[in-house]
Amino acid sequence: QEDLFKNVISHAKEYGYIFASSEIYDGLSAVYDYGQNGAELKKNIKDYWWKSMVQLHQNIVGLDAAILMHPTTWKASGHVDAFNDPLIDNKDSKKRYRADVLVEDYAEKIHQKAEKEIAKARKRFGDAFNEEEFVTTNPRVIRYRKERKEILERLAKSLTEEDLDDVKALIEELEIACPESGSKNWTNVKQFNLMFGTKLGASAETASDLYLRPETAQGIFVNFSNVQKTGRMKIPFGIAQIGKAFRNEIVARQFIFRQREFEQMEMQFFVRPGEELKWFEHWKETRQNWHDSLGLGKENYRFHDHEKMAHYANAATDIEFNFPFGFKELEGIHSRTDFDLKAHEEHSGKKLRFYDPELKENYVPYVIETSIGLDRMFLAVFSSSLKEEQLEDGSSRTVLKLPAVLAPTKAAVLPLVKKDGLPELAQEIIDELKWDLQVQYDEKDAIGRRYRRQDAAGTPFCITVDHESLEDKTVTLRYRDSMEQKRVKISELATLIKEEVDF
Ligand code: ATP
Repeated sequence: QEDLFKNVISHAKEYGYIFASSEIYDGLSAVYDYGQNGAELKKNIKDYWWKSMVQLHQNIVGLDAAILMHPTTWKASGHVDAFNDPLIDNKDSKKRYRADVLVEDYAEKIHQKAEKEIAKARKRFGDAFNEEEFVTTNPRVIRYRKERKEILERLAKSLTEEDLDDVKALIEELEIACPESGSKNWTNVKQFNLMFGTKLGASAETASDLYLRPETAQGIFVNFSNVQKTGRMKIPFGIAQIGKAFRNEIVARQFIFRQREFEQMEMQFFVRPGEELKWFEHWKETRQNWHDSLGLGKENYRFHDHEKMAHYANAATDIEFNFPFGFKELEGIHSRTDFDLKAHEEHSGKKLRFYDPELKENYVPYVIETSIGLDRMFLAVFSSSLKEEQLEDGSSRTVLKLPAVLAPTKAAVLPLVKKDGLPELAQEIIDELKWDLQVQYDEKDAIGRRYRRQDAAGTPFCITVDHESLEDKTVTLRYRDSMEQKRVKISELATLIKEEVDF
């Protein structure tokens, strides 16, 4: 798994997807830049989300709020007082850890042990295997599952400011971060606020403190009435937004999974009080369908219903993805009650209500939130698409099997040789296709090597122009995944490719 992860990181760099930020100065920790292919893939993921959330829903509209917001926003939202990570230092190794992440990682290890037992039994019993029976009767699986549950429950209970000592005790008991040294030499757990502060204004005396937004959600809440009134929106309705968020993550690691600057795709759906749990289920299902439609593999997803819930939520689930380092949160779906709008009413003195003509009453709507990290989705798509394939002739190829709809370049146009008018015809094809599709020209190296290069870059189609093309206006269309090659008319190319890459 570690090797797979290293491959993902180096492949992402080699093919122009992701670079370390300011790399010539040795990079900036946990900040990344998206290269020529990464920028396209990221944009395509955004479009795919936006289209399915906004364009396909008559009752969901978009918003693009500013990153900088009035500082009282973050008082109201609770971020000033409670947006903290519990940190613990190991005095022997002089390393700093996020206490909750340490414990969760440990719980994940136990989960993996249980999964291994199940996989082993499945192999042994074949068709006769009954998973439900196995997991309720096998003593090892029962013990692992119980242990994991207990650890997570203890963690959930002890993450409040008063109980942080319990987290320390838990870490000591589990000896997780430095098992080899058996180290128990930990500092106390301390809460650390994750917001990035900055100043508005030039002179030190008059400047006021601001924060870079740690989530996009609050931009939606403070605009609730603006959008509802000017858009004449009726409940239930949603507001969707894609934008940057900033968190001063302490233990930033795992590549683009946990960054200090990242992007979120969030939708807040406003509903009648009392109807929120119905809508929570609806959005759980709708979001899972969205993920399924990309075909990254159902087995790579799992729901994790929260045992531990934020004080404002009355239901919460994570959609977890099987990243190269195990199952981790990709998207959160939360029933946030009327917490946010009420808090902004209190702090601003402005009413944030909806007059419901059917009920003939005014109320503060309840909210269901779906929140997905764009960069995490990028990593999910990229890492699950990267494959090393053994071919029939004994050779192997690296292929990035991105969903065609998300691929940065849809087709590469390749003249078989660099002469006899083939480059000119290839250019003509590009000039025709470029209005509808992101296409690329490539004439360097033998055709086989060019195919491999496009496979590794994730391009779903190659169009090869040869001498026959000059005579009969046909070309070879090669499919990345099956490597099948078809002779097709140049005039049919656009339709054929668009059928596969449009959404
Ligand atoms: P985690 O527990 O992993 O820190 P979170 O529960 O704090 O995440 P939310 O506040 O629910 O995350 O944010 C919604 C989404 O934003 C997450 O599901 C994740 O995809 C994304 N996200 C959060 N923090 C980061 C980060 N530092 N880097 C990249 N994406 C992030």
